[in-house]
Amino acid sequence: MSSQTDVLIIGCGIAGASAALRLAQDRERQITLVTRAADPAESNSRYAQGGIVTVGEKDSAALLVKDILSAGAGLSLPSAARILADEGPNLVREVLIGAAGVAFDRTSDGRLAYGREAAHSRPRILHVGDATGRAIVEALIAALRQYSNVRIVTSATAVDLITFPHHARNPLTVYRPITCYGAYVFEQPRRTVRRYLAGATILAAGGLGRIYRHTTNPEGARGDGLAMAYRSGARVINGEYVQFHPTALAVPGGEGFLISEAVRGEGGRLFTPDGRAFMAAYAPQWGDLAPRDVVARAIHHEMVECGYPYVLLDIHSVLSRDRIRERFPTIYARCLALDIDITRQPIPVVPAAHYFCGGVWTDEWGRTTVEQLYAIGEVACAGVHGANRLASTSLLEGLVWGDRAARHIAAQGVLPMVDPDDVPPWEEAGLEEDADPALIWRDMRTIQYTMWHYVGLVRSTRRLARALRDLNHLNQDIDSFYRTTRLNDALIGLRHSVQAARIVAEAAQHNRQSRGCHYRDDTKGAAPV
Ligand SMILES: Cc1cc2nc3c(=O)[nH]c(=O)nc-3n(C[C@H](O)[C@H](O)[C@H](O)COP(=O)(O)OP(=O)(O)OC[C@H]3O[C@@H](n4cnc5c(N)ncnc54)[C@H](O)[C@@H]3O)c2cc1C
Repeated sequence: MSSQTDVLIIGCGIAGASAALRLAQDRERQITLVTRAADPAESNSRYAQGGIVTVGEKDSAALLVKDILSAGAGLSLPSAARILADEGPNLVREVLIGAAGVAFDRTSDGRLAYGREAAHSRPRILHVGDATGRAIVEALIAALRQYSNVRIVTSATAVDLITFPHHARNPLTVYRPITCYGAYVFEQPRRTVRRYLAGATILAAGGLGRIYRHTTNPEGARGDGLAMAYRSGARVINGEYVQFHPTALAVPGGEGFLISEAVRGEGGRLFTPDGRAFMAAYAPQWGDLAPRDVVARAIHHEMVECGYPYVLLDIHSVLSRDRIRERFPTIYARCLALDIDITRQPIPVVPAAHYFCGGVWTDEWGRTTVEQLYAIGEVACAGVHGANRLASTSLLEGLVWGDRAARHIAAQGVLPMVDPDDVPPWEEAGLEEDADPALIWRDMRTIQYTMWHYVGLVRSTRRLARALRDLNHLNQDIDSFYRTTRLNDALIGLRHSVQAARIVAEAAQHNRQSRGCHYRDDTKGAAPV
């Protein structure tokens, strides 16, 4: 079975949807988006709370670049940060406000309301309440629905990129550069793998938070895109830079829900479960208002050293009941639904994997080292975030690089299509046995605990060596499981996850210098930020 399309986009978050919207302007061009989720809006983008950065009122692109480079701890690529700051604000106006009609919050006199976040020198964050990502993705998808040349295929999980020479029937393709011609995609309802053949393929499959035990990311962020690109031979960089958020909810049923840093900004204090305030011991000059990484590592240290399953964040002793409900309506409602009344009791929190700063290397147009394969958004690494991401810049990155990749593809004119006879169909014969969900669940948990304890907030040679040994062993088991069992979405994700975990662990092992969100406690290096 095969489908042909001019452009295949894997992923439907802000990056994939933005690329599709630009490409769709040429009604002759056929665009197919696939997403493993049943709802096209389901993605990391959907859960973004704070907002999307732009250039504010008494602000400039140069100032934004300065803040990005400063957060990136010396590893952000200045030219990439400049592209973001120069092109982003216009795209927010043209695409998000204009074409998609996103209703960002405004002041009482009708001007856009710019919020301010940590490490930004100016108020410049546009938001829609505290559910900005949802408003953006739903608006982009509604806009895409207006185009008859755009097809969105849901419940469709990409298994592998189709690349030559690897998948070619013609052996002479070995003398040509590695080239991508689409992807093998598992269609969940039919339980079959179809070849989606395309002249250009855009990987927009998001991040990998789910390879960690604690994460703010939804279930689809398994590193699928990273693993597929890596297997195809694409260059992957900066894998060690995984950003952790200090405070995610640690209550059954609400795990991973983000407790905004604004809670500490309003005077919230951290305590151990037995009532000991601990931040002053880790950061005497800042206390509870220490930077994100410092707080996350302090909490992690308390949990590891004392065996606490979480720590407590207290805001009820600081703010009145009314003020808490007014200032944090979503957090209040979410916690209350889980029987935590934050106006009366502290909030159990843990640090959680939040954002992948590394990824598939791309140039300023989203091109990877594989011909006709583009990568955009969180799966990609164009250099904006360096060793640490500045808050609220990732949505904008998806918008800007989505647009750039689309423009680059459009500029190529007619794209080279592959003959279906040159690509073998997916080999499924003889695989009768269904995957055992207990095995998948257990293996996934092993990956998540290994990454959390050994490749998490604090890394050391010994922990990383242990992680790699365990992950390599598990990878072999999962690979043979994968080759002898009928596919399903969870099994595909498990295979991608273990490979993404190995990429992160190997990069962390090779880089002995602490920088940004990569922190090693057994080697000298740049001071952790
Ligand atoms: C809780 C939370 C809050 C955040 N807050 C902010 C914020 O305020 N501001 C900000 O700028 N950033 C924020 N971020 C980060 C930001 O949301 C993401 O970095 C960004 O949305 C990534 O967009 P994307 O399009 O690259 O990927 P995603 O939005 O994650 O989309 C990935 C897509 O790929 C699909 N996919 C994955 N694997 C496969 C596969 N194998 N086959 C087919 N489809 C697949 C998914 O289904 C999805 O459609 C936040 C993230 C989280 C989790």
